[in-house]
Amino acid sequence: MEEICITRCDSYEYSQLLSAVYKLLEPLGGMPAFVQKGDRVLLKPNMLAAKIPEQAVTTHPMIVRVVAEMVRAAGGKVMIGDSPGIGSFKRVAEKSGISAAAKESQSELVEFDEVVELQGSGVFRRISIAKSYWQADKIINLPKLKTHEMMTMTCAIKNLFGAVVGVEKAGWHLKAGASREQFARLLLEIYLLKKPALNIVDGVVAMEGNGPGGGDPIRLGLLIAGINPLAVDLVAGKLAGLPADLLYIEREAVSIGLAGSKLNEIMIYGTSLEMAMGSHFRLPVGLDAQFGLPAFLKTALKKHTTSFPFASKEKCVLCGICRDACPPAAITIENSALSVDNARCIRCWCCRELCPQDAMEVQRGVLLRLFSFLSAGRRGP
Ligand code: SF4
Ligand code: SF4
Repeated sequence: MEEICITRCDSYEYSQLLSAVYKLLEPLGGMPAFVQKGDRVLLKPNMLAAKIPEQAVTTHPMIVRVVAEMVRAAGGKVMIGDSPGIGSFKRVAEKSGISAAAKESQSELVEFDEVVELQGSGVFRRISIAKSYWQADKIINLPKLKTHEMMTMTCAIKNLFGAVVGVEKAGWHLKAGASREQFARLLLEIYLLKKPALNIVDGVVAMEGNGPGGGDPIRLGLLIAGINPLAVDLVAGKLAGLPADLLYIEREAVSIGLAGSKLNEIMIYGTSLEMAMGSHFRLPVGLDAQFGLPAFLKTALKKHTTSFPFASKEKCVLCGICRDACPPAAITIENSALSVDNARCIRCWCCRELCPQDAMEVQRGVLLRLFSFLSAGRRGP
């Protein structure tokens, strides 16, 4: 059985958070069960972009600080690292408050830059990840619970995509193409390369709507922890009230028989699932309906059955960030106008995730709109 702990925590105030994380880890044996004296422990928060903690885009710095202090108390040497989706690591660390958290907890900030190439465990033969991630004795994964336009939810497994360094992320999006299942498979293979020792989810204030970068903060008041990130995500998805058929990572994990992807394999400690459930996060607008069409019809009707991005003329400043990040080069800027080639677009939503002006909007195909109208109220906008 996989063991998952849930603890209520309503605030990021230091002493409250510290006692909540102690309580959270108690059923798992506390931090000493994961960290031995002299271990080089890498904390992997979500450092997607240079946003302040109140925007709920990045893992709250107080969680990073509290966990770092607990690792140090257990005798570990703490590093805090990630490879942000946008902007320099230094700027993201400063704006998110993680730089200050590192200083307060006497931890080392580690930017993921050098890579090691490793053998994948299935579909993807070679995968490059950050050397400092690979070489750490232990990984403690500190995801933020958020909705995600491509994968519906980002939590413990998706947070490990940060181990892929900078521009290589776009290359992987391109290799996985428009298939959410393929991308989910890639994320699972990254997880299997080096499994985190422990996962602690920041669900005190989570994100709903157009996550992971442009959604709205939602107060959930929960911390979740566990060794198996799949089991952690399964529970997190339940607590967020997200539809199980849209959780692509979990579905893919079930299809390849990975442990921890079924609720009857999980033992909950602390606050019960029944007591903690009740939230229903708004879904991202970019999510497509599952029409169950054969592949040739999916391609032919792509324009009508999917959402596609377009730049708001009022908000777009033509900075080119989305164009440079777009995996299949579907975005062009010419004569002071930005256009998206919808046939080329793989709906990865990196453009929306990375746009600093929140200018990339979503147009829904006509069949998708009709589907949403017919199922109104069931799954948000
Ligand atoms: S990143 Fe945003 S502001 Fe910059 S060009 Fe793209 S849509 Fe416009
Ligand atoms: S236009 Fe946006 S959603 Fe489409 S492939 Fe490029 S980055 Fe991804």
